[in-house]
Amino acid sequence: MTTAVVAGVEVDTRHWIGGERVASADTFPDVSPLDGSVIAEVSRGGAAEVDAAVAAASAAFPTWAAMPVAERSAILLRVAEGVESRLEDLAQVETRDNGSLLRSHRRGVMPRVAMNIRFFAEYALTLSHPDFDTRGHRNHVSWDPAGVTAIVTPWNAPLMLATWRIGPALAAGNTVVAKPPEWAPLTASLFADIAHEAGLPPGVFNVVQGLGTEAGAPLVAHPDVRRVCFTGSVPTSIRIGEAAARNVTPVSFELGGKSPLLVFDDADLDLAVDIAVEQFDNSGQVCLAAVRMLVQDGIYDEFRARFLERARAIKQGDSRDESVDIGPLIGRTHLERVDGFVQRAIADGAEVVLGGEPNHELNAETGGFYYRPTLFEGVGPSWEITCQEVFGPVLTLQRFGADDEGVAMANDTEFGLAATIVTGSRERAEHVSSSLRAGTVWINCFFVRDLSAPFGGSGRSGIGREGGLWSFDFYCDVKNSVFAPKGWI
Ligand code: NAD
Repeated sequence: MTTAVVAGVEVDTRHWIGGERVASADTFPDVSPLDGSVIAEVSRGGAAEVDAAVAAASAAFPTWAAMPVAERSAILLRVAEGVESRLEDLAQVETRDNGSLLRSHRRGVMPRVAMNIRFFAEYALTLSHPDFDTRGHRNHVSWDPAGVTAIVTPWNAPLMLATWRIGPALAAGNTVVAKPPEWAPLTASLFADIAHEAGLPPGVFNVVQGLGTEAGAPLVAHPDVRRVCFTGSVPTSIRIGEAAARNVTPVSFELGGKSPLLVFDDADLDLAVDIAVEQFDNSGQVCLAAVRMLVQDGIYDEFRARFLERARAIKQGDSRDESVDIGPLIGRTHLERVDGFVQRAIADGAEVVLGGEPNHELNAETGGFYYRPTLFEGVGPSWEITCQEVFGPVLTLQRFGADDEGVAMANDTEFGLAATIVTGSRERAEHVSSSLRAGTVWINCFFVRDLSAPFGGSGRSGIGREGGLWSFDFYCDVKNSVFAPKGWI
């Protein structure tokens, strides 16, 4: 089988290499987390398909890189329009594939996919090429495209996370080989169709489907790949880093998190509770989620009561239902992993305030993989549940006294992706944000992202920053040409 029909949308389940569909002899099943059904059999690529895709991307690179930036940009703007014209198809397929809410895909995620392409297409037009003088010599700085870029992404926001890298890579003049997540591979294939129809030349964008160890590993180890972009877990990043290092290929890693939400006693409680409840969104499968809630003594009890009231009202169910707040986890393996964290926390002595188990009734009724929103209290600083990323709807609630104690607890993690502060004092916000180790700090807000801002993690949350100029800094080989004083040539 070479296609699947998902939510009425035909999706090609083969690779996209050099502007053509290519099938592998083997396939892997793609399971919908909504009901556990197999929705597609997808080509299972390996080293041979990776070699073919990297060869196609290498062959396409010189022409794409040499194309005037205005022409490249015009093609990419048409790709963004193509995404917008198929927004509903993309939203429907992604919901079936990864179980996230249909309304989020429609209103937030898929518009952002289009923006990921449009923003960087437009940004490329504004890149300046500074000239400066050294004793009569002229220095000319240019942003040279780096070459073939490997993009490996996870399943929690598959097309959004892929295009956040694909947009700047292509806008910079690189060609791309993408390896979508095997647990949600379908929208990458639809994106290949859209890009092709928009006029992206063959070989500029390629997709190799398959498992991480079989298709991802040879891609990131390929000697002709000049940039490796990875979004995913820390253990995988270490393997990828080792492989890329053998070719001295620069990497950009966006990894996990264990981010804090710091609520001070002068906080607007309504706002604090709104932000806290939001951490269950996407069933907690969000790298940025502020899963460690740290609340100051003076408002702890009131915050706790109001949070619980709101959290108990969360409606879990089929992600296509507009009234549902959270859907399932991505699959059975992940549900068992999340439950393992929860059961070990209970064994360690953590107090279950909410949830603490799969939603057995819903799972029996639907065949899906739902986990109840869970809250722990009574946890200690070095416990697994406060240190390790669960990537599920599991939060901890801890109390702090002095501001410094709260900051120390917030920073007591190997991760450093994001932090959120809720306070009524600007002075306190400035002091605390300057003391936190995190790539992004939100003050009295959450999840506000501007594509021109730097994004990335400190510590084990990643390597490098992307967004705006930081993206072009990564995707380009920045070159300085020094011209002798006039008259010499
Ligand atoms: P994962 O590391 O298991 O897999 C991510 C991707 O890597 C998949 O496409 C997989 O097939 C591929 N892969 C696996 N092994 C590989 C190998 N040896 N070589 C090359 N590729 C390989 O992660 P996941 O479970 O899919 O995603 C969840 C993780 O992603 C969480 O840790 C989450 O925090 C993180 N994440 C981070 C961000 C961010 O922006 N910082 C965003 C979303 C998710």
